[in-house]
Amino acid sequence: MAFVMRSVDYLIVGSGLFGSVFAYHAKRAGKRCLLIEKRPYLGGNVYCEKVEGINVHKYGAHIFHTSNKAVWDFVNQFVEFNRYTNSPVANYKGRLYNLPFNMNTFYQMWGITTPEEAMQKIEEQKRVAREDLTEEPCNLEEQALQLVGSDIYETLIKGYTEKQWGRPCSELPAFIIRRLPLRFVFDNNYFNDIYQGIPIGGYNKLINALLEGIETREDTDFFEHREEFLSLAKTLVYTGPIDEFYDYRFGRLQYRTVRFEQEVLDVPNFQGNAVVNYTDREVPYTRIIEHKHFECFGQAVYDNTKTVISREYSVEFSDGMEPYYPVNDEKNTALYNQYKALADQEQNVYFGGRLAEYKYYDMAPTIERAMSLAKELGIIS
Ligand SMILES: Cc1cc2nc3c(=O)[nH]c(=O)nc-3n(C[C@H](O)[C@H](O)[C@H](O)COP(=O)(O)OP(=O)(O)OC[C@H]3O[C@@H](n4cnc5c(N)ncnc54)[C@H](O)[C@@H]3O)c2cc1C
Repeated sequence: MAFVMRSVDYLIVGSGLFGSVFAYHAKRAGKRCLLIEKRPYLGGNVYCEKVEGINVHKYGAHIFHTSNKAVWDFVNQFVEFNRYTNSPVANYKGRLYNLPFNMNTFYQMWGITTPEEAMQKIEEQKRVAREDLTEEPCNLEEQALQLVGSDIYETLIKGYTEKQWGRPCSELPAFIIRRLPLRFVFDNNYFNDIYQGIPIGGYNKLINALLEGIETREDTDFFEHREEFLSLAKTLVYTGPIDEFYDYRFGRLQYRTVRFEQEVLDVPNFQGNAVVNYTDREVPYTRIIEHKHFECFGQAVYDNTKTVISREYSVEFSDGMEPYYPVNDEKNTALYNQYKALADQEQNVYFGGRLAEYKYYDMAPTIERAMSLAKELGIIS
């Protein structure tokens, strides 16, 4: 290695929320830590890049939400959160609908104004869907029709889901959609959690505060110096892909991924909302994110005459792409379990986070997981 390093108690691979929260606790407990990150910057997928004075969520829109007061209090020690409330809008062939499905959506779809009318309408459509079916739903389309009826399915679910998965809903398994919550109140708040918001000043502020005083090495891939790194550390906390750790010996785990097309526009306010989903099949992207709306409200939106948008395209994963969403189907779960069996036999190596556990975690559960590992290792009580 080009640098000389002293030995440490913990070598932490990866500077996402898992690695950063673990490192914070270890340092507080007086442990010597070294955190390495293969990207040129810290933060993992919550990293934000400043473009035209706007924090751009480089790896996809990230909205913090939790009902766990301990996690909420924990992050609020480091950075204040704003009052952002996720209330996406769906654009279907130029017509707009509020999400999640609630009284505003039902009014926009059918012109009805009372919960009773909405329930009747949906029940009627569900009944028709059930009549057409002789047995249990055997694909996502049948499942969705039974849960919400044809209008909501055709307008707000079908095209979006087909773009996400790159396959017709009639060929997708029913289990992908187990529930489709319907709200018979006028409430566009996407999440049901008690706490929600975006760190004021962006997620980098949170990561920098967590990692203050901790030795970090960016642009450093663990696998390029694996043996040297391992010889330095008593314990390894690894948050990278588990299959890579074992040289893909059983095969590669699959992911779904997203391609972002970023554009700076010479207008202060492009779509009036942070998140707009495009739910018809013809528009090739699934969403447009307008980043300034995560942190600017009211007149502040117009104080910056420019805006930054990201169009999101769902694409098939191949080598070299960012692994975003694990595909937890039977085949990949079986493969993961083979790697997990090896991981369970390791001494002084701990696997944590979305890539090492091959599991989709939101940010708050990732923090909880990192805290539980710190407890398991006796770092916090
Ligand atoms: C598109 C998208 C949108 C999301 N939106 C939300 C949201 O709105 N709300 C929410 O709560 N959660 C959201 N999440 C989930 C959130 O991103 C995760 O909970 C969080 O990033 C998990 O942190 P982590 O530390 O496990 O992984 P990561 O953030 O991925 O960190 C892992 C780090 O390890 C590094 N690494 C990997 N291999 C090596 C190596 N060999 N050497 C050195 N470093 C390495 C990587 O570069 C990376 O920085 C979203 C996820 C995605 C994919």
